[in-house]
Formats: sequence, structure tokens, C-alpha cells
Amino acid sequence: MSKISNIVNRAREAFNSGKTRPLQFRIQQLEALQRMITENQLAITAALTADLHKNEWTAYYEEVVHVVEEIETMVKKLPEWAEDELVEKTPQTQHDELFIHSEPLGVVLVIGAWNYPFNLIVQPMVGAIAAGNAVVLKPSEVSENTADLLATLIPQYLDKDLYPVIKGGVPETTEVLAERFDHIMYTGSTAVGKIVMTAAAQNLTPVTLELGGKSPCYVDKDCDLDVACRRIAWGKFMNSGQTCVAPDYILCDPSIQNQIVEKLKKSLKDFYGENAKLSRDYGRIINDRHFQRVIGLIEGQKVAHGGTWDAASRYIAPTILVDVDPQSTVMQEEIFGPVLPIVSVRSLDEAIKFINQREKPLALYVFSNNEKVIKKMIAETSSGGMAANDVITHITVSTLPFGGVGKSGLGSYHGKRSFEAFSHRRSCLLRSLGNEEANKARYPPSPAKMPRH
Ligand code: NAD
Repeated sequence: MSKISNIVNRAREAFNSGKTRPLQFRIQQLEALQRMITENQLAITAALTADLHKNEWTAYYEEVVHVVEEIETMVKKLPEWAEDELVEKTPQTQHDELFIHSEPLGVVLVIGAWNYPFNLIVQPMVGAIAAGNAVVLKPSEVSENTADLLATLIPQYLDKDLYPVIKGGVPETTEVLAERFDHIMYTGSTAVGKIVMTAAAQNLTPVTLELGGKSPCYVDKDCDLDVACRRIAWGKFMNSGQTCVAPDYILCDPSIQNQIVEKLKKSLKDFYGENAKLSRDYGRIINDRHFQRVIGLIEGQKVAHGGTWDAASRYIAPTILVDVDPQSTVMQEEIFGPVLPIVSVRSLDEAIKFINQREKPLALYVFSNNEKVIKKMIAETSSGGMAANDVITHITVSTLPFGGVGKSGLGSYHGKRSFEAFSHRRSCLLRSLGNEEANKARYPPSPAKMPRH
């Protein structure tokens, strides 16, 4: 038996032992995870600095704090969420007990992406532990420092059999995917999402797919452009644009394009100084392949700001492109880098049409003073999630499920939704052996004549 099969089998045996059933055990493991984070803050930051040039502040506020809050919410709410949920009775079940019982699914596989490599492994894990599962973790090999750290730390703090970490790249992920799981949660590209879903189908394993896509950002003429551009610049250039819910491109009337460029430039200067390369708050592209891909997207475009890079350090300056042709390469694929194209639309209707002609995005943003514009955008488009007059913040709220729709993903998690995503909601009907007279009508032989109502 291969090493990977052994690891998965051990996780299943540990799950079958029943030790994850008591809530107390799950809470202990979540508290151990919390301790792991508190006691290794510096090591976590160091790994994220090595992988993505994050500093102590950005590592904490862009990744770690959301996990810490998720653990706190889960520990506090788990007893309530795990309780049997009574449901309304029908006339025929008035004397029965009817409820939905949440039970663990079994062995869950979590495959993470490299752009928020700590968060995208540990946050799903929190929900899967809370729901009582064994969890096999496969961090992205692309962010290797964080993967190494998770593989070292997790077994030091949590049950070694129940929560193993598997390191490696495509061959190892392929091998893991050949194993049987009870749920697979995958974060990454749409292309690999299809591979994961195909592998899962062999065992009829349910999946949660957290994918990407081009998240549009519509800026209305009736808008405080100073505030809008500051918020857009923050969300777009955070982590050097390598954020799944970053605004991918701006749609606006051509009459405000220049103002938007000037205000974005001002915010960029406020955030990162004259030269973002020297800023400790500005990230780097994860590897050479992605670096080459992103600079290729700038080629042939009208650059209003930035457009410079340094291959040795994989730095790409915050870049704004104007008058972008919707048919150009930069508008065909998710950018996933610090390049912000501005595409002209002449009305809200045109913006809606533009969005609806493309795949359903993971996030959609609209900036306007006019509530009608915001409501119309919600009513006439579709996306995984959306925010008005801000970006990204909606995914930090644990009461809002986080997930895509169509090609941007399948299923969702965070907060209570995570507990549900990793639980089976089992329908239960408890009846007494008395009152048999009431069942008389259901037993054969059936009456000769069908009663008419
Ligand atoms: P990646 O290259 O790190 O791949 C993710 C995982 O898939 C890794 O663990 C890797 O080992 C595995 N993998 C890669 N190729 C494989 C193959 N051929 N067969 C089996 N496994 C394979 O990450 P990525 O795909 O570059 O991630 C970027 C994408 O992820 C973007 O589209 C982004 O929008 C999306 N994303 C989505 C979310 C979300 O929460 N919805 C979050 C972050 C990133």
C-alpha cells in the first residue's frame, strides 16, 4: 500500500473509532489550533514573507485574523449549531418526533491554493473539524514555505492520525484524489476544479469548489470617486493582485476614466510611496510562470500608470490600463496580478449586458451613490457574492456564505455554512409502536374503490 493510501486509511480508522463524535473533542482540537497560531505567529509570518513578500501586518490582517475569528465563532456556536433541529409536523406525524440531526461526513480532503496559503487550508479545516470529520490537508506546493510549516506544526498540536498534511505537487495531488473521501473541498483554478470533480465522481464524492474568474467592478458617474478609488486600489493591489475576489477590471463611462486613473494613482502613492518596489506593504508574484503570464497581459495595452517590472524579484509595478478592448487577452482570463484594465461602457444597462455576456464571477462590485443603481445591478446579474461601495469585505463576514456560482465555484463555506458544508443533515422520524389503528389505511389490500376528493 502506498504512503498516501496509508495516511488516508489511518485517518479513516481514527474517524471510525468515534473519537470525533463528542463536541468536547472537536472544541479541544479547535483550541489546539488556536494555540498553534498564537505560539507560532512569527514562523507563520516568516513563511508568508518567503512565499509572497507579506509582512507581519499583511500576513495577520489578510490571512490569520480570519482563521482566528472563525475558530472563536465555531467554538462559541458549535453547541447550538450541532443541536438537533426540530421541524414542522404534518397532520400524519403529529405524534412523532421530527428533527434534522447533523452528523460528520467522515474523511474530508482539503486542497488549498497558494495565494492565501495559510488561510485557504486552515479556514476550511476549522469547519471540517467542528463538524466532526477527519481532515486530510493538501497545501499548495507553489507556496512551499507555508506548506512546509503547516506540515510541521499541525501534527505538533492536533491529533496526528485525524488531521494529516500531505505535501507535494501534481503527482501527489493526483494520487490523493484517487483515494476515497466523503467530501472534497478544493480551492484553485477552474481548470483544476474540473480534474478534482472528475476524480470525485468515481466515488460519488460531494465537492465544494472554490474557484476564480474575472470579478467586475462598475463605477457609476454618481459616486464619490475619491473614496471609491481608494477602496478599489486597496482591494486590487493587495497581495500584488493575487486575490480571488480582487476587482479584476473597472467598467465606467469614458467621461470619468481620467479622473479614476488620477485618483487610483493618488491612492497608490499614499499606500506604497513613489516606488512600490521599495514598499514593505507591496507583494511579489509567486513564481516565474505567473510573472511571465502577467507581464504578457500588459503587452500592447495603453498603460496609464506602472507597466514596469523586475524579473529577478518578480516585482510588477501597480499597473493601470485604459481604453481596453474587451476582446484583448487581458479581458479573456482572470488577471491574478497587479494589472487593472479600465473598459468603457456608456450606461448601467451596457455594464449589466457586458457582465451577463461573460461567465458568472466570484465577486461583483458596484460603486454608486444611487441605491437604485445598486439594486438594479443585484437584480439583473449573478455572481458568487457582491459588495456595493466596497470590495472584498463581504468575504470577511462569517454570517455570509462564501462561494462561487457557475464557473466561479460550487458550494460555499465560512461560519455556520462551513459547519453545514462538512455535515450530513440527517432526517429523523421517531415513532412509537402504539397507535397502530392510525396506520390501517396504508396497508394492503387496497379498497376496491378509490375515494374521490
Ligand atoms: P495552485 O496552482 O496552488 O493549485 C491549487 C491546488 O491544485 C494545489 O494544491 C495543486 O497541487 C493542485 N493541482 C494543480 N494542478 C493539478 C492537477 N493537474 N491535478 C491535480 N491537482 C492539481 O493554485 P491555482 O490553480 O494557481 O490558484 C489560482 C486560482 O485559484 C485563481 O483562479 C483564483 O481565483 C482561485 N482562487 C479561488 C479562491 C476561492 O476561495 N474561491 C481562493 C484563492 C484562489
